[in-house]
Amino acid sequence: MPELPEVETIKRSLAINKGARISRIEVIRPDIIRIRDFEPEAVHGLTINSFRRRGKYLIISLDERESHILVHMGMSGRFYMQEDQYEANEKHVHFIIYLDNGRKMVFQDPRRFGGIWLLRNPDTIICKLGKEPLNREFCSAYLKSIVKDRRIAIKTLILDQNLISGIGNIYADEALFLARIRPDRTAGSLSDEEAVRLCRAIKRVLRQGIEKRGTTFRDYRDGNNNRGGFQEHLQVYGREGEECPVCNSRIVRKRIGGRSSHYCVTCQK
Ligand SMILES: [Zn+2]
Repeated sequence: MPELPEVETIKRSLAINKGARISRIEVIRPDIIRIRDFEPEAVHGLTINSFRRRGKYLIISLDERESHILVHMGMSGRFYMQEDQYEANEKHVHFIIYLDNGRKMVFQDPRRFGGIWLLRNPDTIICKLGKEPLNREFCSAYLKSIVKDRRIAIKTLILDQNLISGIGNIYADEALFLARIRPDRTAGSLSDEEAVRLCRAIKRVLRQGIEKRGTTFRDYRDGNNNRGGFQEHLQVYGREGEECPVCNSRIVRKRIGGRSSHYCVTCQK
């Protein structure tokens, strides 16, 4: 599932289309539009002012104020550009934005947990999101304040998009490994020192993920429809039964809060 580093990578690749004008939008599956404050035709002829990211949302803002297209990849979504002429007849393409620079941006999503929002005010969606983990506002003091007295597993807590936005299953497992904290520990049991470690580890794995252009475990592709590179650097995620890179114990997998979780019982306490 695309998480913060993947959506950030998509955003950076698509940013070369800033300043392009939308010539046409093609909606192949109308129900992929989750909320529509305006009809897709209303943005024909408008210029793209910016590509931004908030949590796992990509926000495309248009020159006419109060016209924004939000994209969420869900489980298996891809959002990438192609030459306008390119006719691939790919499956599961639900929404296409044609630009006046000879390109089109294609939303493809086999499982359809993702979607498109056509919004006058993107704050209606993004105001509910928790802190951006790579911003300064996400710090160990904040992490200490949200774990305090919480009885849920620490992994479940850091996946809560209303508290911290952008972390998913892969980077949660990797950050907890780096911080040497078991994913099933009660959030409230973290010491101050552990909260500091976890805060640093979260920032570090997300930055590394961006540097390697995201993790392609199955579906993820960047804005050029290419695979990411961070899967080569995963320490625990998807490595059940393999040796821990630090102590050589076997990596175990356990379901925590309904999510498959990978960790080392020796290194993580
Ligand atoms: Zn280990």
